Amino acid sequence: MASSTPYTRFQTTLEKALVHLKLSSEERALFAHPRYTHKKDLTITRDNGAKVAFPAFRVQYSDARGPYKGGIRYHPLADEEEVKALAALMAIKTAVVGIPFGGAKGGIQVNPKDLSAKELQELSRAYVRAFLEHLGPDIDVPAPDVNTNPAIMAWMRDEFEKQTKSYSPAFITGKPMSFGGSLGRDTATARGGFFLIQELVDRAALDPSELKVVIQGFGNAGATMAHFLHNAGFTIVALSDSQGGIYAPEGIDPVRVEKYKRKTGAVTGEYCEGSVCDIQRMKMDGVQQVTNEQILELPCDILIPAALDNVIAEENAGRIQARIVFELANGPTTPEADILLEKKGVTVVPDVLANAGGVTVSYFEWVQGRSGEQWTAERVDSELKRVMLDAYRAVRRESHRQSLTLRDAAFSVGIRRMLDAMRARGWVNA
Ligand code: GLU
Repeated sequence: MASSTPYTRFQTTLEKALVHLKLSSEERALFAHPRYTHKKDLTITRDNGAKVAFPAFRVQYSDARGPYKGGIRYHPLADEEEVKALAALMAIKTAVVGIPFGGAKGGIQVNPKDLSAKELQELSRAYVRAFLEHLGPDIDVPAPDVNTNPAIMAWMRDEFEKQTKSYSPAFITGKPMSFGGSLGRDTATARGGFFLIQELVDRAALDPSELKVVIQGFGNAGATMAHFLHNAGFTIVALSDSQGGIYAPEGIDPVRVEKYKRKTGAVTGEYCEGSVCDIQRMKMDGVQQVTNEQILELPCDILIPAALDNVIAEENAGRIQARIVFELANGPTTPEADILLEKKGVTVVPDVLANAGGVTVSYFEWVQGRSGEQWTAERVDSELKRVMLDAYRAVRRESHRQSLTLRDAAFSVGIRRMLDAMRARGWVNA
């Protein structure tokens, strides 16, 4: 399996789920490859006058159910295969939550932390110009993803409006409130996931105060989820960011971690400066330092990977101790690991359901952008809850009906909905 790529892993997952759908070979072929893969090098002038180029991608997997939709990530490891896989996952995700979009993803191979704000803005505008003809409110609607944020979305909208001489609030989602954003979009990924965890816990008649949670990743989704769960009485026992994390079996207050993260740039900031930690103080507070590999294997009830893909693999799946793996990140579990977790009786709530709250509120933002309306926070919240719980029920029903894992069931639901649209369009025989 050494030669597997994110996209071949997606294909493996897809094949497994498709077995139950009994598709014709003509129908299967429709899902084999993204519709379009666009690639360009983006050249910017650095503050020191040097010109540098960064590879950039926009992959459009499917527009069967509506305009292409999906975020743009800025990451040194973002490459064509990863962006392809993420685009495909977006198409399944929008279908699982039943919003009228297809699936796409974008990426720039860059470490944004190496760029000044000015360089970052130049790069973001260059992305829009490079893929201009493929983007638009009715064509392909981008959004934030790993290392991108509302400020970047605002620059991108501005560049699009400049280039097309138009007023286009629905060009992109995840914008700041001051420039066409939606209430609740910033917390939507975690909020949607939180509704699902609440539902799972209620159905199993579990008591949140007895449930220990580990979260890998302290970006927008992971940090917000930590707050929601902490406030609902769950015990957060470990948190991490890209530099590593902390483990405290008695519980961690995410507000405090956030404060230090803001001050020092690290989740471990209260105790460590770089790799040097105040061991005495850690001991007193009952806190241990953990790596991003160790954090996944800690004893807990709910493990939430909320950072990057491929972190639960064949090598470490056997050591996962959680009862529930809740995929707030995209693609954190490899297909081999998925099978091992299934054998161990671990419930995996798959990315295409677990983190679909983000794109769902993106849809609400797009609707608001097109209609000129402004929804209240209460309306966003209640509509999000309805969409997430409907999706969960559809997936659970499919899982029971066919004895499938939640991932296979979610893929079945998503692919079937995409096929229905393709048949209605006449792309395949009905
Ligand atoms: N990047 C998020 C995701 O992977 C949000 C995408 C969107 O809002 O279009 O689901």
